[in-house]
Amino acid sequence: MTFPKKLTIAIDGPAASGKSTTARLLAKKLGYVYIDTGAMYRAITLAVLQSGADPSHKEESEKIAAKSLIELKIINGTQQTFLDGIDVSSQIRSPQIDKAVSEIATNAAIRKLMVRQQQRLAENGGIVMDGRDIGTVVLPTADLKIFMNASIEARALRRLKDQSGQGLSLEEIKKDIERRDHIDSTRKDGPLKKAADARELDNSSLSIDEQVEIIFKWAKEVAQI
Ligand code: C5P
Repeated sequence: MTFPKKLTIAIDGPAASGKSTTARLLAKKLGYVYIDTGAMYRAITLAVLQSGADPSHKEESEKIAAKSLIELKIINGTQQTFLDGIDVSSQIRSPQIDKAVSEIATNAAIRKLMVRQQQRLAENGGIVMDGRDIGTVVLPTADLKIFMNASIEARALRRLKDQSGQGLSLEEIKKDIERRDHIDSTRKDGPLKKAADARELDNSSLSIDEQVEIIFKWAKEVAQI
Protein backbone atom coordinates (compact mmCIF):
# COMPACT_ATOMS: atom_id res chain seq x y z
CA MET A 1 0.00 0.00 0.00
CA THR A 2 1.12 3.57 -0.58
CA PHE A 3 -0.40 6.16 1.70
CA PRO A 4 -2.02 8.90 -0.40
CA LYS A 5 -0.13 11.74 1.31
CA LYS A 6 3.60 12.13 1.85
CA LEU A 7 3.66 13.05 5.51
CA THR A 8 6.71 13.63 7.65
CA ILE A 9 6.46 11.61 10.87
CA ALA A 10 8.82 12.16 13.83
CA ILE A 11 9.09 9.57 16.60
CA ASP A 12 11.15 10.30 19.70
CA GLY A 13 11.57 8.56 23.01
CA PRO A 14 14.05 7.09 25.49
CA ALA A 15 16.30 4.08 24.91
CA ALA A 16 14.59 0.77 24.19
CA SER A 17 11.12 2.33 24.09
CA GLY A 18 10.27 0.31 20.98
CA LYS A 19 10.60 3.27 18.60
CA SER A 20 12.63 1.51 15.92
CA THR A 21 10.44 -1.59 15.51
CA THR A 22 7.26 0.47 15.52
CA ALA A 23 8.67 3.12 13.16
CA ARG A 24 9.97 0.49 10.72
CA LEU A 25 6.63 -1.35 10.57
CA LEU A 26 4.70 1.91 10.32
CA ALA A 27 6.87 3.05 7.40
CA LYS A 28 6.26 -0.28 5.67
CA LYS A 29 2.50 0.05 6.14
CA LEU A 30 2.54 3.59 4.75
CA GLY A 31 4.97 2.83 1.91
CA TYR A 32 7.36 5.40 3.40
CA VAL A 33 11.11 5.52 3.96
CA TYR A 34 12.26 4.73 7.50
CA ILE A 35 15.30 6.46 9.00
CA ASP A 36 16.81 5.22 12.27
CA THR A 37 18.91 8.19 13.39
CA GLY A 38 20.29 6.27 16.39
CA ALA A 39 22.09 4.02 13.88
CA MET A 40 23.88 7.10 12.55
CA TYR A 41 25.22 8.10 15.98
CA ARG A 42 26.15 4.47 16.58
CA ALA A 43 28.10 4.29 13.30
CA ILE A 44 30.07 7.44 14.18
CA THR A 45 30.82 5.94 17.60
CA LEU A 46 32.15 2.81 15.89
CA ALA A 47 34.35 4.94 13.62
CA VAL A 48 35.77 6.78 16.65
CA LEU A 49 36.42 3.56 18.61
CA GLN A 50 37.96 1.82 15.59
CA SER A 51 40.39 4.68 15.11
CA GLY A 52 41.53 4.28 18.72
CA ALA A 53 40.37 7.79 19.67
CA ASP A 54 38.78 8.63 23.01
CA PRO A 55 35.04 9.44 22.48
CA SER A 56 35.28 12.16 25.15
CA HIS A 57 37.92 13.94 23.08
CA LYS A 58 35.57 16.30 21.21
CA GLU A 59 37.83 17.67 18.46
CA GLU A 60 39.32 14.33 17.52
CA SER A 61 35.86 12.69 17.45
CA GLU A 62 34.49 15.49 15.29
CA LYS A 63 37.35 15.11 12.80
CA ILE A 64 36.64 11.39 12.48
CA ALA A 65 32.90 12.06 12.09
CA ALA A 66 33.49 14.66 9.38
CA LYS A 67 35.45 12.24 7.23
CA SER A 68 33.23 9.19 7.81
CA LEU A 69 30.62 8.26 5.24
CA ILE A 70 27.43 6.90 6.74
CA GLU A 71 24.85 5.38 4.43
CA LEU A 72 21.50 3.84 5.30
CA LYS A 73 20.41 1.33 2.65
CA ILE A 74 17.32 -0.80 2.41
CA ILE A 75 18.34 -4.39 1.70
CA ASN A 76 15.64 -7.08 1.55
CA GLY A 77 13.23 -4.64 3.17
CA THR A 78 15.45 -3.88 6.20
CA GLN A 79 17.58 -0.83 6.86
CA GLN A 80 21.28 -1.64 6.93
CA THR A 81 23.91 0.80 8.13
CA PHE A 82 27.13 1.27 6.18
CA LEU A 83 30.26 2.99 7.44
CA ASP A 84 32.71 3.91 4.67
CA GLY A 85 31.15 1.26 2.41
CA ILE A 86 31.16 -1.54 5.01
CA ASP A 87 27.97 -3.03 6.45
CA VAL A 88 28.21 -2.41 10.22
CA SER A 89 24.56 -3.12 11.07
CA SER A 90 25.37 -5.81 13.68
CA GLN A 91 28.56 -4.24 14.98
CA ILE A 92 26.79 -1.03 16.00
CA ARG A 93 24.52 -2.97 18.41
CA SER A 94 27.34 -4.18 20.68
CA PRO A 95 27.55 -3.27 24.41
CA GLN A 96 30.76 -1.30 23.65
CA ILE A 97 28.81 0.98 21.32
CA ASP A 98 25.91 1.21 23.82
CA LYS A 99 28.45 2.40 26.39
CA ALA A 100 30.10 5.11 24.26
CA VAL A 101 27.33 6.38 21.98
CA SER A 102 25.71 8.87 24.35
CA GLU A 103 29.08 10.54 24.95
CA ILE A 104 29.51 10.96 21.18
CA ALA A 105 25.93 12.26 20.95
CA THR A 106 26.73 15.13 23.37
CA ASN A 107 29.25 16.47 20.82
CA ALA A 108 27.60 19.60 19.36
CA ALA A 109 29.69 19.58 16.17
CA ILE A 110 28.81 15.95 15.47
CA ARG A 111 25.12 16.65 16.13
CA LYS A 112 25.24 19.50 13.62
CA LEU A 113 26.63 17.15 10.97
CA MET A 114 24.01 14.49 11.73
CA VAL A 115 21.06 16.90 11.86
CA ARG A 116 21.99 18.36 8.47
CA GLN A 117 22.21 14.89 6.93
CA GLN A 118 18.89 13.85 8.50
CA GLN A 119 17.11 16.96 7.26
CA ARG A 120 18.35 16.26 3.74
CA LEU A 121 17.04 12.69 3.95
CA ALA A 122 13.60 13.96 4.97
CA GLU A 123 13.37 16.68 2.32
CA ASN A 124 10.79 14.97 0.13
CA GLY A 125 8.45 13.77 2.88
CA GLY A 126 6.99 10.27 2.93
CA ILE A 127 9.27 9.51 5.86
CA VAL A 128 9.19 8.08 9.37
CA MET A 129 12.26 9.15 11.34
CA ASP A 130 13.04 8.08 14.89
CA GLY A 131 15.51 9.41 17.47
CA ARG A 132 15.67 11.77 20.43
CA ASP A 133 15.52 15.26 18.87
CA ILE A 134 13.52 14.65 15.71
CA GLY A 135 10.34 16.52 16.70
CA THR A 136 12.27 19.30 18.47
CA VAL A 137 15.35 19.96 16.30
CA VAL A 138 15.59 17.88 13.12
CA LEU A 139 12.00 18.16 11.86
CA PRO A 140 10.30 20.84 13.97
CA THR A 141 7.54 21.21 11.37
CA ALA A 142 6.80 17.48 11.05
CA ASP A 143 3.16 16.67 10.23
CA LEU A 144 2.92 14.18 13.07
CA LYS A 145 5.10 13.99 16.19
CA ILE A 146 5.05 11.12 18.62
CA PHE A 147 6.82 10.73 21.94
CA MET A 148 6.98 7.04 22.82
CA ASN A 149 7.63 5.84 26.31
CA ALA A 150 7.37 2.74 28.48
CA SER A 151 8.29 1.82 32.03
CA ILE A 152 11.95 1.02 32.68
CA GLU A 153 10.95 -2.58 33.54
CA ALA A 154 9.14 -3.06 30.21
CA ARG A 155 12.03 -1.55 28.26
CA ALA A 156 14.73 -3.61 29.97
CA LEU A 157 12.72 -6.81 29.56
CA ARG A 158 12.30 -6.17 25.83
CA ARG A 159 16.06 -5.63 25.44
CA LEU A 160 16.72 -8.84 27.33
CA LYS A 161 14.31 -10.79 25.12
CA ASP A 162 15.58 -9.45 21.81
CA GLN A 163 19.09 -10.38 23.04
CA SER A 164 20.61 -7.10 21.97
CA GLY A 165 21.83 -6.99 25.59
CA GLN A 166 24.25 -9.71 24.47
CA GLY A 167 24.70 -11.65 27.67
CA LEU A 168 23.99 -8.80 30.07
CA SER A 169 21.68 -9.40 33.05
CA LEU A 170 18.35 -7.60 33.43
CA GLU A 171 19.88 -5.34 36.09
CA GLU A 172 22.85 -4.45 33.87
CA ILE A 173 20.54 -3.65 30.95
CA LYS A 174 18.38 -1.48 33.23
CA LYS A 175 21.44 0.42 34.46
CA ASP A 176 22.71 1.00 30.91
CA ILE A 177 19.31 2.27 29.72
CA GLU A 178 19.01 4.64 32.70
CA ARG A 179 22.57 5.90 32.24
CA ARG A 180 21.97 6.63 28.52
CA ASP A 181 18.60 8.29 29.19
CA HIS A 182 20.23 10.52 31.80
CA ILE A 183 23.02 11.66 29.45
CA ASP A 184 20.56 12.04 26.54
CA SER A 185 18.05 14.14 28.45
CA THR A 186 20.52 16.39 30.27
CA ARG A 187 22.79 17.35 27.35
CA LYS A 188 22.70 20.92 26.08
CA ASP A 189 22.25 20.23 22.36
CA GLY A 190 19.15 18.41 21.12
CA PRO A 191 18.29 16.72 24.42
CA LEU A 192 15.77 13.91 24.62
CA LYS A 193 12.58 15.87 25.16
CA LYS A 194 8.93 15.68 24.17
CA ALA A 195 8.09 18.39 21.62
CA ALA A 196 5.27 20.62 22.87
CA ASP A 197 3.04 19.47 20.01
CA ALA A 198 3.92 15.74 20.19
CA ARG A 199 1.35 13.06 21.00
CA GLU A 200 2.43 10.80 23.82
CA LEU A 201 2.23 7.04 23.47
CA ASP A 202 2.97 4.87 26.51
CA ASN A 203 3.41 1.39 25.15
CA SER A 204 4.23 -0.50 28.37
CA SER A 205 1.24 -2.77 27.83
CA LEU A 206 0.73 -2.49 24.06
CA SER A 207 1.83 -4.97 21.41
CA ILE A 208 3.85 -3.74 18.43
CA ASP A 209 0.82 -4.22 16.15
CA GLU A 210 -1.34 -2.14 18.48
CA GLN A 211 1.22 0.69 18.50
CA VAL A 212 1.46 0.69 14.71
CA GLU A 213 -2.34 0.76 14.43
CA ILE A 214 -2.63 3.73 16.82
CA ILE A 215 -0.04 5.78 14.93
CA PHE A 216 -1.54 4.76 11.57
CA LYS A 217 -4.89 6.11 12.78
CA TRP A 218 -3.22 9.37 13.84
CA ALA A 219 -1.54 9.62 10.42
CA LYS A 220 -4.93 9.27 8.72
CA GLU A 221 -6.34 11.92 11.03
CA VAL A 222 -3.51 14.33 10.19
CA ALA A 223 -3.78 13.62 6.46
CA GLN A 224 -7.56 14.09 6.75
CA ILE A 225 -8.42 10.83 5.04
O1 C5P B 1 18.01 4.93 19.22
P1 C5P B 1 19.28 4.32 19.77
O2 C5P B 1 19.11 3.81 21.17
O3 C5P B 1 19.89 3.33 18.85
O4 C5P B 1 20.30 5.54 19.85
C1 C5P B 1 21.60 5.40 20.35
C2 C5P B 1 22.06 6.71 20.97
O5 C5P B 1 22.23 7.68 19.95
C3 C5P B 1 21.12 7.34 21.99
O6 C5P B 1 21.29 6.83 23.30
C4 C5P B 1 21.52 8.81 21.91
O7 C5P B 1 22.65 9.06 22.71
C5 C5P B 1 21.93 8.98 20.45
N1 C5P B 1 20.89 9.59 19.62
C6 C5P B 1 20.76 10.97 19.67
N2 C5P B 1 19.89 11.60 18.84
C7 C5P B 1 19.14 10.90 17.98
C8 C5P B 1 19.23 9.50 17.93
C9 C5P B 1 20.11 8.87 18.79
O8 C5P B 1 21.43 11.62 20.46
N3 C5P B 1 18.32 11.55 17.15
